[in-house]
Amino acid sequence: MKDIPTLFGSMVFNDQVMQERLPEETYRALMRTMENGRRLDPTVATVVANAMKDWAIEKGATHFTHWFQPMTGITAEKHDSFIVPAENGRVIMEFSGKELIKGESDASSFPSGGLRATFEARGYTAWDPTSYAFIKDNTLCIPTAFCSYGGEALDQKTPLLRSMEAINKQTLRVLRLFGHDEVAMVRTTVGPEQEYFLIDKDMYDRRKDLINTGRTLFGARPSKSQELDDHYYGAIKSRVSAYMRDLDEELWKLGVLSKTEHNEAAPAQHEMAPIFCTTNIAADHNQLTMELMKKVAGRHGLVCLLHEKPFDGVNGSGKHNNWSLSTDTGINLLEPGETPYENAQFLLFLCAVIKAVDEYQDLLRISVAAAGNDHRLGAQEAPPAIVSIFLGDELTAILEALENGTAYDAKEKVQMKVGVHTLPRFPKDTTDRNRTSPFAFTGNKFEFRMLGSSMSVSAPNVMLNTAVAKELDDFATELEQAADFNAALGALIQRVIKQHKRIIFNGNGYDDAWVAEAEKRGLLNLRTTPDCLPHLLSEKNVALFEKYGVYTETELRSRYDIRLQNYAKVLHIEAHTMVSMTQKDIVPAVLRYARELANTLRAKKTVMPDLACAAECNLLQKISPLTDRLTVCLDNLRQTLAEADKPGRNPQETANFYRDEVIPTMQALRETADSLEMLVAKDLWPLPSYGDMLFSVR
Ligand code: ADP
Ligand code: MG
Repeated sequence: MKDIPTLFGSMVFNDQVMQERLPEETYRALMRTMENGRRLDPTVATVVANAMKDWAIEKGATHFTHWFQPMTGITAEKHDSFIVPAENGRVIMEFSGKELIKGESDASSFPSGGLRATFEARGYTAWDPTSYAFIKDNTLCIPTAFCSYGGEALDQKTPLLRSMEAINKQTLRVLRLFGHDEVAMVRTTVGPEQEYFLIDKDMYDRRKDLINTGRTLFGARPSKSQELDDHYYGAIKSRVSAYMRDLDEELWKLGVLSKTEHNEAAPAQHEMAPIFCTTNIAADHNQLTMELMKKVAGRHGLVCLLHEKPFDGVNGSGKHNNWSLSTDTGINLLEPGETPYENAQFLLFLCAVIKAVDEYQDLLRISVAAAGNDHRLGAQEAPPAIVSIFLGDELTAILEALENGTAYDAKEKVQMKVGVHTLPRFPKDTTDRNRTSPFAFTGNKFEFRMLGSSMSVSAPNVMLNTAVAKELDDFATELEQAADFNAALGALIQRVIKQHKRIIFNGNGYDDAWVAEAEKRGLLNLRTTPDCLPHLLSEKNVALFEKYGVYTETELRSRYDIRLQNYAKVLHIEAHTMVSMTQKDIVPAVLRYARELANTLRAKKTVMPDLACAAECNLLQKISPLTDRLTVCLDNLRQTLAEADKPGRNPQETANFYRDEVIPTMQALRETADSLEMLVAKDLWPLPSYGDMLFSVR
């Protein structure tokens, strides 16, 4: 293995490279932009661009691209070479400040939800100097935001940066109240744990469903799956471990702090966790991670599946968004700490998160809503669709004591008064025992576990940052006006606990009793994507985003449309893939097997007319009616799809139709096909089985 410290970040135009290659003045100006959000001087950009180009060319780059994150959920890039014509038919390599700062691209093919009328198809990409440029495939990649001619965000990065600004501003106000004048900047930090499946490429290539949709649309349950729990943390197979090593190397080159890897619960399922960093960078890095996971798999004859539910009946894949708040002085504001003074501060931040999650449950749910993730949430393997917070017994007891004004530590009879008691430390082990909670306090951070594995982490963090910013804003306003700070603080904390404790739930989130209990508490249970998306446009949510300049109402409407259309499109592709696979692969295979049975039967009867041939008869009697049913289900799905495609429905109605009509029809078809798979000879069945795929990598 190469020298890792040298390898790490070798393809990144990072701080060290900038210090080495930029004139002192330029470096300082850039730092002011990166750290304090100051606007960048165009002359600075010219110098930076030139240094970037020289560095990139030395590393073998020939092209540059603005690298951005449109609403497709993945990244986009358009490559331009550095060449510029010079005299005598020669070329020189150039990269201007203008090219660094701003790009223009035809945006008409990216989802915009109607933000750009077709006559104004121009989109702009704008350099995000807070995320380092890097080299990938001989191309200098400049992380950029993507917006329309009118300045509306068409991407995931812009709102994320806006939300980080909002929470920074409000957190600083609160910190001032606690006398922390030394803090100049607060950032949210994120460490996203990424789950994925690896299967053999030969198997993948033989499954149109995996190729078209990323998940299996057919497949009977294998005789062995994850029952024995023998895969979780199991020894990593050599092919997988070679893959992981290769992946790490690629990620390290790009400065991604890939740290932990292990086998997950399902066979063929694995996880990678990076060390946390600033949210914006974490979001960029997670996109790169997903891209590289797929690319590196190719080199090993593998395919990496990032879909939330590639295999029915087998655990799906999620992404745990570990989130906290950190000052530029290195303090984690969600660290309970030991000194009373800081405990009060911790409790206030804790209350801000509790209140935010309670008041904006719908937004958190929306942020993880997609057709793929709908298979997971509430499916007894991932958190339920109900948002609640797990705090652990200790912290819950402390909050109860605060609410009632009673002593927390009965033995020592300490009278609880905010600001003058000591909290115990929270070793991670005692707090992180509940895997069923969607939003768990894990020692010094919150872990939001509802994300799907294929999703960008941007949306959930936009929601979290903005909602918590709003609560901190209200808290700061109230406390700034207080005559007696400590008394006001105590009253505020007590009030928040009283009003929002319904969101705290330390029990088993998979239990049916929780669904009933949550309903009694008035918590939302938004089961599907079309159920939750209308909440994006509720008065309360529009007001929130507009107040903090994170989304305009127009931007929200466009996102609502895009997300609903995406839901319908995914199901449309899935359903059509099912139709084609059934018609072209499954029905012919089943008929072939039936013919084989009938031929055998006839042949046997010819030579020995008295033979019962019970086996052939038995199988034919099972297969024949199932085949009839299969073709009926197929026709039903075709008809339902024709109905779905009829014009006249708005995006919400279309999404609802797919949820209520198309999904159940797909399900009926699948059940019949899966029953047939159990009966038809393996060599005639046209698709690799679940057993083949899940245990294909040795
Ligand atoms: P576990 O595996 O028990 O969930 P870890 O401590 O391994 O807990 O952390 C999981 C993820 O949380 C890692 O990506 C880690 O970097 C991240 N993390 C740890 N501390 C923070 C923090 N303060 N802010 C954001 N993420 C964090
Ligand atoms: Mg975790």
